[in-house]
Amino acid sequence: MLQLTLMEKQSVDLNRFRILYRFGDQSQSLHKLLTEKKLVWNHDVFPADKIVLLNQIHSSKIITVDNQSAGKNILYTSDEQADGMITNKPELYLAIKTADCVPVFLFDEHRLVVAALHSGRKGTAENIVSKALNIMKSDFNCSLSNVKVVLGPAICRKHYQVDSVCFADFTSRSNSTQIFPFIDLRSAIKSQIKNAGVLDENIRVSEICTHENADYFSYRRNKTEERQISIIGIKGR
Ligand SMILES: [Zn+2]
Repeated sequence: MLQLTLMEKQSVDLNRFRILYRFGDQSQSLHKLLTEKKLVWNHDVFPADKIVLLNQIHSSKIITVDNQSAGKNILYTSDEQADGMITNKPELYLAIKTADCVPVFLFDEHRLVVAALHSGRKGTAENIVSKALNIMKSDFNCSLSNVKVVLGPAICRKHYQVDSVCFADFTSRSNSTQIFPFIDLRSAIKSQIKNAGVLDENIRVSEICTHENADYFSYRRNKTEERQISIIGIKGR
């Protein structure tokens, strides 16, 4: 728990900017964001006009966003669908909705680039995290040795049992080692990140299971339509 507390509050100090991320629980719900038009973590308030929310569809599509996208799907709706976002614009917070799937944040403090992904079973099978890393390299000139990755609260292996068809599909496409009939999304994603070339010391993984921790929404637990919101952005000083 100590490690998690540190991780959730962590932000990286730079000269003019710092990377800031927060993993949400039930107190940062989708419903609250849509009705109150803001997210609040203790004293940190993030207004909707600085947040971009995705229409997530369990794909591996990633879009680059800028200030024109601020407020998207909160203050106005968009037809565009994707499961990942990347930006280098300060004061723009990328929001991911989850209720068992893995919220994945990637950032490069040297290039000041942040990415936010929704990596569930399908996104992980399609290796959305390596697609994000490729875009960070090709479009934002990031060096993999500088990229840090954080995986947030998600369903754990013992609570994620699947049928044989599902299991076979996932293990073959994600190229990860799993023991039937369970899937460990976070270990699969971590392998993908390491295989892509990110340094082990730059990967942090939350151990919180959304299914067993009542502070979190869990689709598998009760088929909830609610989602916790997690955000990452580049904060000016
Ligand atoms: Zn669990």
